[in-house]
Amino acid sequence: MSTATAPAAAATPTDSATHCPYCALQCGMNLRRTPEGAGTVEVVERPDFPVNRGALCGKGRTAPAVLSSAVRLTEPLVRNAATGKLEPAGWDEALRLVADGLRRTRAVHGPDAVGVFGGGGLTNEKAYALGKFARVVLGTSQIDYNGRFCMASAAAAHQRAFGLDRGLPFPLEDIPRTGCVILVGSNLAETMPPALRYLTELRENGGRLIVVDPRRTRTAEQADLHLAPRPGTDLALALGMLHVLIAEGRTDDAFIAARTSGWQDARAAAMAHWPEMVERITGVPLPQLREAARMFSDAPSGMVLTARGPEQQSKGTDTVGAWINLCLAAGKAGRPLSGYGCLTGQGNGQGGREHGQKADQLPGYRKLTDPAARRHVAGVWGVDPDTLPGPGRSAYELLDALGGEVKSLLLMGSNPVISAPRAAHIEGRLRSLDFLAVADVVLSETAALADVVLPVTQWAEETGTTTNLEGRVLLRRAALRAPAEVRSDLEVLHGLAGLLGHKEGFPAAPDEVFDELRRASAGGPADYAGISYDRIAAEDGVFWPCPDEQHPGTPRLFLDRFATDDGLARFVAVSHRPAAEEPDADFPVFLTTGRVVSQYQSGAQTRRVPELNTAAPGPFVELHPRLADRIGAVDGEPLAVTSRRGRAVAPARITESIRPDTVFMPFHWPGEGRANTLTNPALDPTSRMPEFKVCAVRVERAQAA
Ligand code: SF4
Repeated sequence: MSTATAPAAAATPTDSATHCPYCALQCGMNLRRTPEGAGTVEVVERPDFPVNRGALCGKGRTAPAVLSSAVRLTEPLVRNAATGKLEPAGWDEALRLVADGLRRTRAVHGPDAVGVFGGGGLTNEKAYALGKFARVVLGTSQIDYNGRFCMASAAAAHQRAFGLDRGLPFPLEDIPRTGCVILVGSNLAETMPPALRYLTELRENGGRLIVVDPRRTRTAEQADLHLAPRPGTDLALALGMLHVLIAEGRTDDAFIAARTSGWQDARAAAMAHWPEMVERITGVPLPQLREAARMFSDAPSGMVLTARGPEQQSKGTDTVGAWINLCLAAGKAGRPLSGYGCLTGQGNGQGGREHGQKADQLPGYRKLTDPAARRHVAGVWGVDPDTLPGPGRSAYELLDALGGEVKSLLLMGSNPVISAPRAAHIEGRLRSLDFLAVADVVLSETAALADVVLPVTQWAEETGTTTNLEGRVLLRRAALRAPAEVRSDLEVLHGLAGLLGHKEGFPAAPDEVFDELRRASAGGPADYAGISYDRIAAEDGVFWPCPDEQHPGTPRLFLDRFATDDGLARFVAVSHRPAAEEPDADFPVFLTTGRVVSQYQSGAQTRRVPELNTAAPGPFVELHPRLADRIGAVDGEPLAVTSRRGRAVAPARITESIRPDTVFMPFHWPGEGRANTLTNPALDPTSRMPEFKVCAVRVERAQAA
């Protein structure tokens, strides 16, 4: 199939080494100018890059199609007040209108009436500059980004347990050499196909694979053991496994004593979740629960890897915490070939949460509430620390405040009309703004609502760094010229800052921004001070923390001590609780959402690639034959799925690979099949991440609705 993992053509010395624009694997690839020489490139393999070793999925292989797409934005657009239509405009006019719109709101309603929304696909330089722009130029606390929808619960649990959040504390190359992997709520076969080889090699080496997923996905089919819990119950599953370890004397007491704190409370919480109760909550048969616990504890080393399944819940932080507790109790953390890791989703999901576009954060993963952090960063920025605003609203709360306390919004690299939970409501909030400016490469569903649309460069047309799921800082260098009337996001921020009275401090050159980022991050948890563009290029990436130019970088964390004050990993006592919304008489079925291999996130780019659209042309509702029989569903015919937030319609896809009490919808498409029309914005109290993965719905034949 065209979208499967596939090598591209062989590389030659004149090719430009770079990375895929999409997911957090950040596969290495080479770009070669096509023979026509008309400013177009094709992807060729880069087998020497260690993460993907030349393999790419269909999205990466076809990524250049968006560069030359007829639908890409090539000039600014401004909404004509008389006709209500977006019309071409010059950059001077467009930037002036954006600056005026933001300035006007600020003058009338105060700085916090201006919002800024970023994205996990922005480079480190852009994320850094956007955070600085919000806090220094606009003076607003109201900045957050769509990564809050993607990795925030794992980040919060990481911080709580280990004192530091880096997606994986080890390189991917360690996975095939560990003894047992528990993969929770991740479908690598669809989300990161080239990474599946690490699991294949694990099993070839004699390691065991346990997959936890309500669906029997292509990834679950590879497992030695597949556990299919009810959606929203994997916290209980982890507690049940920990209970088995304790009851059977399988905990690593020496490790617990030497390297952890908080065990007694976590132990008591696990002992309150006896296996029979966990079987009732999760639907996972007791023998499977015991087998999984024993398989993990018997292995000489082990890893738990989570993704959006356990994280996108209203108890996501505690759910990830429960899996971390299991690792710690089994002595499978802080040692070679062992540990807990999060399979970050977005292209720069890791770096994007480190350098200041998050509501509570300053560059270097510093806390906005920490006086020393404020002094350090304010010193780099040349401002008084007292002028820096405090933490703002989280992503959903910010979007929900649009048109209310937040009157104007500058949005870069995000498409919340498709990707936000309760999307119809959020679309309404966006429409109610006094002023909306969007920078994007295509006219996304969100850009189509804007007063001003700014056309920006794409990955192959600009230089910048990203940080992949391993914490490996990578460099993409510009390989071709952008269309004449397209500017980079950094140029946009440079221009706006100038119009708003900040002629200095916002360079448009990415290397200048990165040098400043290095200084701002120096001494912080995510320390990039020793990382340079030249080093990245010479070393296939550099793992942070890397505090100086002589430092080798840190591929493996926590081997000697954890990053907490006392160096000990912290157990956190957590207990099962139901999802915010459980099935009932009116909405009797679980809905869970996710991705398919040929589309990426809101689909803003991938829906513009013909090959990907052919492979994945639209939404669907996956359901079990028993549920299909009950409601009279016919494969391929439209089903109406209704939740308390709205109604979506998409064709039925009947399969035995899903639980009979659950339906699945991918979330990449707009219109009547938009899955996020249905999803529940209930937020995790710590991470403020919405509960995309579980809500209650009614499913019926569309004509009967
Ligand atoms: Fe690799 Fe992800 Fe790009 Fe596919 S989308 S080529 S897995 S980085």
